[in-house]
Amino acid sequence: MPEEKVKVAIDYKRCDPRRCDRGICSAIEACPTKLIKQIEPYDSPYPVAGFCQECGKCLDACLLKAISML
Ligand code: SF4
Ligand code: SF4
Repeated sequence: MPEEKVKVAIDYKRCDPRRCDRGICSAIEACPTKLIKQIEPYDSPYPVAGFCQECGKCLDACLLKAISML
C-alpha cells in the first residue's frame, strides 16, 4: 500500500528549473498524485507527503536526474 509520506528527494545541486520548459518542473505534470510542488515557475520544486505510488514517473521526467526515491 502506498504510504502518506515524502517518498522522493530532490537534489538541489542537480536541479535547475531554468532547464525545464518555461521554468516549470517536468515532474509536476508527471506525478499522478501531484506530490511535487513549485510556488512559481523557476522556483525550486519540492516534494510533499501524500499517497506516493512509487511509480518512478517523477524520476523519469527529470532530465537532470535530480529526483530519487528515498
Ligand atoms: S524536472 Fe528536475 S531539473 Fe527540472 S525543476 Fe524538476 S527536479 Fe528540477
Ligand atoms: S514516484 Fe510517482 S507517485 Fe511518487 S512522487 Fe514520483 S511520480 Fe509521484
